[in-house]
Amino acid sequence: MIIVMKKNATVEQIQAVENKLLELGFMTHPIHGEIKTVIGAVGDKRLLQTQSILIMPGVENLVPIMKPYKLVSREFKQEDTVVDVDGVLVGGSEVTIIAGPCAVENQGHFYQTAKYVKESGAKILRGGAFKPRTSPYAFQGLEEDGLKMLDQARQITGLKIITEAVDPRDVELISRYADIIQVGARNMQNFKLLQEIGLSMKPVLLKRGLSATIEEWLMAAEYIVAEGNQNIILCERGIRTFETATRNTLDISAVPIAKEFSHLPVIVDPSHSSGSWKYVNPLSKAAVAAGADGLIIEVHADPDKALCDGPQSLNPENFFNLIKELRIVAQAVGKRL
Ligand code: PEP
Ligand code: MN
Repeated sequence: MIIVMKKNATVEQIQAVENKLLELGFMTHPIHGEIKTVIGAVGDKRLLQTQSILIMPGVENLVPIMKPYKLVSREFKQEDTVVDVDGVLVGGSEVTIIAGPCAVENQGHFYQTAKYVKESGAKILRGGAFKPRTSPYAFQGLEEDGLKMLDQARQITGLKIITEAVDPRDVELISRYADIIQVGARNMQNFKLLQEIGLSMKPVLLKRGLSATIEEWLMAAEYIVAEGNQNIILCERGIRTFETATRNTLDISAVPIAKEFSHLPVIVDPSHSSGSWKYVNPLSKAAVAAGADGLIIEVHADPDKALCDGPQSLNPENFFNLIKELRIVAQAVGKRL
């Protein structure tokens, strides 16, 4: 539920309402807007006599949230959330490009790719250091050595960096290096991981699970925000369907729907959606046209030699051309790239 405070409510009145809610066992999340403050309250409604809140000084209204997810819902917050990644914005009027290889493999390829993607206009560099693979025998990532290479690439290029956490025990280590922590599709409902990331205040990229509904995806985001971390970017990365021509099926309608149901920014991963570099260009354009706030694209200096996801990685030239073409699409939908 949301408690809407009056325009002229004092700091003390707002605090008194929060204290009352805390006493009743609710978690409170105040949002101080330019005109009014609203307090999000999550907890057991049966413990609350709504009248006891409504009569408190400074309270204007009490609005229940009908959706099962609360703090991430559009009902809770009408304005779009813009996630600030240490100065790089995701959301609002920006189309933010995240690019880089699937995994950090070695210094040579990685720094080269980092320079290429920076020159083409990406703002954030991706690279997995902890790589959960479908097969336990496939390359599993360089772990902390990979994080050090990400850090080095950030220093060389000025790009922000994103990398995936797969184990709650690694969150503290990863947050020392990364600007954004990624939660992969297979971990979307790893609730311990979500809670641990919710306790760190780092921006989070939450990928949609392979077979998750939009509602389940938003409930996963709710786990993170319930611990206090509101810096969440949603990522549609393709879902399992009967179609086998692509690795997954990009659910393009998830973009406007997630943005309608939630105030969080939504980006698209055309690489894992399609599994083939050939389709990354048209799917990226479709995503931006549908209102995506950004893209996360796999790019490799030499895709034929990639240890992971080479067939879906763009080479630097194709990536450069894609960004050039995407600027026109972004402009057509009133956004900046
Ligand atoms: C990735 O981005 O490297 C990745 C593993 O993606 P997903 O979790 O979407 O499969
Ligand atoms: Mn990959």
